Amino acid sequence: MTTTADRFGFTLEQHYSLLPAALFSYCAPTSVTTPGIALFNHALAAFLGLDARTLDSAEGAALLAGNVLPEHSTPLAQAYAGHQFGHPNMLGDGRAILLGEQRAPDGRLYDIQLKGAGRTAYSRGGDGRAALGPMLREYLISEAMHALGIPTTRSLAVVTTGEPVYREEVLPGAILARVASSHVRVGTFQFAASRQDHALLQALVDFVIARHYPELTEIERQKQPLALMEAVMDRHIDLVVAWMRVGFIHGVLNTDNVTLSGETIDYGPCAFMDSYHPETVFSSIDHQGRYAYANQPAITQWNLARFAETLLPLIADDPEQAVGPATELIQSFPERYGKKWLAMMRCKLGLFGEDSVDQTLATDLLKWMQSQAADYTNTFRALSSETRPESGPCDSADFRNWYDRWQARLGRNNKPLKSSLCLMRNSNPAIIPRNHQVEKALDAASSEGDLTLARQLLAVLATPYEDSPDKATFKVPPAPEERVCQTFCGT
Ligand code: AMP
Ligand code: MG
Repeated sequence: MTTTADRFGFTLEQHYSLLPAALFSYCAPTSVTTPGIALFNHALAAFLGLDARTLDSAEGAALLAGNVLPEHSTPLAQAYAGHQFGHPNMLGDGRAILLGEQRAPDGRLYDIQLKGAGRTAYSRGGDGRAALGPMLREYLISEAMHALGIPTTRSLAVVTTGEPVYREEVLPGAILARVASSHVRVGTFQFAASRQDHALLQALVDFVIARHYPELTEIERQKQPLALMEAVMDRHIDLVVAWMRVGFIHGVLNTDNVTLSGETIDYGPCAFMDSYHPETVFSSIDHQGRYAYANQPAITQWNLARFAETLLPLIADDPEQAVGPATELIQSFPERYGKKWLAMMRCKLGLFGEDSVDQTLATDLLKWMQSQAADYTNTFRALSSETRPESGPCDSADFRNWYDRWQARLGRNNKPLKSSLCLMRNSNPAIIPRNHQVEKALDAASSEGDLTLARQLLAVLATPYEDSPDKATFKVPPAPEERVCQTFCGT
């Protein structure tokens, strides 16, 4: 696969398009009237080996909008299926087009995809387009997640199209240039499985192992599918533990939104929790609370069970023999998750080593936070100050009791307090993208074309574990009248 850099630095390779043709449809982006860059990610461009200065321009906007293709691009839309709120559907990229895979200076491949780039073979009734607000939301939140150290797809740019999109109202159109280590999802495997085509499934397994789990090429070929299942499960346990750590609620954990790479994908009606409540739901379409904060581990296990089902024909010739080991693996999820969750909570509480009181200390604090509707982020961050928090609900006998037990446990750390504080400050962000602030930023951009607030937010979210006086306004939870209780997909 020889490639030459174009003047923007693209050296696109085509790997996905070498998979069996059933898995995609070639499809060029539909040109837009007046592309203009709204946000451009210079650091990510440099990371990808792109020429940021050349790309952040009118010519770059035309390319990022799909009006002009980079060299060696063979644009395509990917086929996939998925369980949406528990119900199986045939889906596919209805509005996203993969331009190709960029080999970054780190030696790895990254998908360059334009989301909102026009209709594809999988668009069904949709217009293939996206509105500015939701694309900015994805840019802001995905970049915030990256800065928090959480695996995620990334955002290279948001480009306005100069064209309206028609939703419940008329909105400005935009395209997001999304970067992912691949866009293969559990839904991609479900698509292959639905065709009952072993060769197709095997090709996908080989692709995913080569791309994301090269260490598995070392083991016997027949054992690879089960080993892949385990490796994917471990990555998703780490991912959901990281979400729980920062109070992130994905909102649409359908199987088509679960990547094989273990990256967070598809920032629709997602949000970070302000006051702690395990049943918090933001998504306007999640009426049953299926994807509530505390349900995320169980839903991840459910999604991984759907993944496991697709692999059964490759695990053993006789499906009966495959079910046993696959089920055993899926059933080990709660125990594996529980251990990693507790390890994460130890970090949030500055605890070293293991002590029998740790689990109770963590759950008692959460129960207390729930009873007080305490702010999740600020409560944990306040614990990493050197003195006992005393304001508001912390000035209570219940809290003081918990605090004394915690101090006693810290005393058994056999490490200086400084180490605990350091661990806590690296595990408890000072700044998260608070929903009311994100909504304000999106509103200003959509209704007035004003990106000042979006840029300010991006700047403070770039160093979420560092606190400083100029960040104070971004730490304030919403006043009752500012509270955003619902978020919308905005597709
Ligand atoms: P999502 O909720 O973003 O995960 O999308 C679910 C499915 O709907 C995917 O197959 C999308 O490609 C498709 N979709 C979402 N919005 C549009 C649109 N405006 N036009 C065509 N397809 C869409
Ligand atoms: Mg999706």
